[in-house]
Amino acid sequence: MACLVDPLGRTFPYLRLSLLEACNFHCSYCLPDGYRAGPRPTRWLTAEEIARLLRGFAAVGMRKLRLTGGEPSLRADLSKIIGIAAGTPGIEKIAMTTNGILLQRRLQDWRAAGLTALNVSVDSLDPVRFKAITGHDRGVEVIAGVEQALGLGFDAVKLNAVLLRGLNDDELPAWLAYLRDRRISIRFIELMRTGDNLEYFRRHHLRSEDLEQSLLDAGWQLLPRLADAGPAREYRHPEYQGRIGIIAPYSRDFCASCNRLRVTAKGDLRLCLFGEFGIPLRQLLQSDEQQAELIASLHAQLGLKQAGHGLHEGQTGMTPHLASVGG
Ligand code: SAM
Ligand code: SF4
Repeated sequence: MACLVDPLGRTFPYLRLSLLEACNFHCSYCLPDGYRAGPRPTRWLTAEEIARLLRGFAAVGMRKLRLTGGEPSLRADLSKIIGIAAGTPGIEKIAMTTNGILLQRRLQDWRAAGLTALNVSVDSLDPVRFKAITGHDRGVEVIAGVEQALGLGFDAVKLNAVLLRGLNDDELPAWLAYLRDRRISIRFIELMRTGDNLEYFRRHHLRSEDLEQSLLDAGWQLLPRLADAGPAREYRHPEYQGRIGIIAPYSRDFCASCNRLRVTAKGDLRLCLFGEFGIPLRQLLQSDEQQAELIASLHAQLGLKQAGHGLHEGQTGMTPHLASVGG
């Protein structure tokens, strides 16, 4: 099967699919006032539309799918969607990014349906800070869900923490203690500026350089980047089972290795997280007969993926917050 290749020679084996924009958390950097539904109910992509979308992307080389949101676990048909992905020829890996709130109740079902990897957002190991950042006093439960995940045979269990100046930037010792005996990766993500968080960004954005220097000083080693790896710079240490990844979207080479495509919960293809436009695909997902047209459209659109985003210049594109495109 032909793989999508853009004019810069990048291939796109990785799709991030948002299942809905709604979320039950109020993360201070993302949806500080919670999710606000519009006046009319939004129709997120249905399981049938998602099945056609996945077949189309798999036909042009997508091998890894990430389900995200909003909060993907709020979809009542999540296990069904995971099962559809698992049954799509060509898709080898199915990951999900979640706030972890339903892990203890639903994780076994998702694993049985075919989920192969899990990312859980945990901005602080301290329950009081967790509550202050997410708006919900559920830190202890989320961590218990992560512990459960470690016993379920996932290819990878990773945690995401957004680096926040003055809110969680002194927690490296706690994370190191956590990682010593757990086969788990923590990704520290630099706060990204979005349309809705400009003032917050000014107060709390922190570059990752000091953290990376502390890791090097403590004997952590930067691993060579694998061909199909995500954007994280990954560190390991011989005395630790866990690993640490740094995601620094403001670093100069971040876009050159970008192999991500995104589809929003309403079915728009987004070529860059910070791009200025989306390409509606939903009208091509209404019947199985449209598959060839969908594939032709995907091939055509890839030529438009920009060489780099404009975040350094303060451009945030059309993204008000990452809950709208899934991060
Ligand atoms: N609700 C799920 C969750 O929080 O894991 C999935 C969607 S969330 C938008 C995906 C990831 O984006 C989370 O790890 C979250 O911490 C991260 N994120 C959200 N807004 C961000 C921002 N402005 N800068 C950096 N990361 C952000
Ligand atoms: Fe919800 Fe995830 Fe955004 Fe937090 S980061 S508000 S959990 S979508």
